[in-house]
Amino acid sequence: MDRIIASRIRQDVQSMHAYAIQDSRGLIKLDAMENPHRLPPALRQKLGERLAEVALNRYPGDRVHELRAALARHAAMPEGFDLMLGNGSDELISLLAMACDVPGAAILAPLPGFVMYAMSAQLQGLKFIPVDLTPDFELDEAAMLAAIERHQPAIVYLAYPNNPTANLWDDAVIEKIIEAAPGLVVIDEAYQPFSSRSYIDRVARHPHVLLMRTLSKFGLAGVRIGYMLGRKALVREIDKVRPPYNISVLNSECALFALEHEPVFAAQAAQIREERGRIQRALGALPGVRSWPSDANMILVRVPDAARTFDGMKARGVLVKNVSKMHPLLANCLRLTVGTAEENARMLEALHASL
Ligand code: PMP
Repeated sequence: MDRIIASRIRQDVQSMHAYAIQDSRGLIKLDAMENPHRLPPALRQKLGERLAEVALNRYPGDRVHELRAALARHAAMPEGFDLMLGNGSDELISLLAMACDVPGAAILAPLPGFVMYAMSAQLQGLKFIPVDLTPDFELDEAAMLAAIERHQPAIVYLAYPNNPTANLWDDAVIEKIIEAAPGLVVIDEAYQPFSSRSYIDRVARHPHVLLMRTLSKFGLAGVRIGYMLGRKALVREIDKVRPPYNISVLNSECALFALEHEPVFAAQAAQIREERGRIQRALGALPGVRSWPSDANMILVRVPDAARTFDGMKARGVLVKNVSKMHPLLANCLRLTVGTAEENARMLEALHASL
């Protein structure tokens, strides 16, 4: 077996670490920016009835087209645009790397940032160009523009807001980056339900800008639906690399059902935003904890000893994410996902007790 692995599995894959998913059994799960609220029981019942009617013997077809139309309405997609679906936006990120894989192509993204941008580049054999944020997690305008000039990236990713720093970057700097970029610019709005701003009204100004979103943070992380919109001609080209049946009939039915009940999810997002404010105020009163503003459903904090606090919180039944090894700018940082009021109270107690 070792010989097969050594001779047949790519060297760079052998030296990679798999995307780590933490074991959350028995813990309050505040590590992955999930919506902590489930569907109300009456809707669960209705959804079950809907799913029972789905023809599992057929490949996905018409309902996926209906989902694309429903998402276009949900996102207020501009005229002349089209939308493609991914099995989560993770898949869209991989497909983009595949579609842009010409010799010498590079993907550029600010760091600390979402790990899949770099991973998609590595797996597809593209160069990854990281550009550090400033110490207060803003875009380093000069460094970004210089790297774009030097590397002429095929794709620039800008998460709006960013993960794990949770902030929105300066729009004027983003505009300069868009103007300087010779390839595609992807504005990743995974956290849009919690954000005070969106790029949707500006996306039509630039033919090379794509807007990426997901239903994961909306409340359907388990369903795996990501979508990306942009000028029709461009999206049609990228869509050619998508596996034909990447969205299952069950996933599309769940997503359609959720969009029919959008106010339920909008109310959950509003509750999460309110809870975020409460956590931030409570963090402000905790000595030794520094926290940053958030436009997402997560809050980045710096503590005196992240490993100790992470372990202490886990021992007290609360799972968060220790991001302190991800990047030097994140030294001693933990990322806290906003949960229900009760979960957040438990989280704050555990944090306080584990400092
Ligand atoms: N973009 C960003 C910025 C993210 O943080 C995440 C997930 N945490 C994703 C995309 C991927 O989301 P999904 O695959 O669940 O749609």
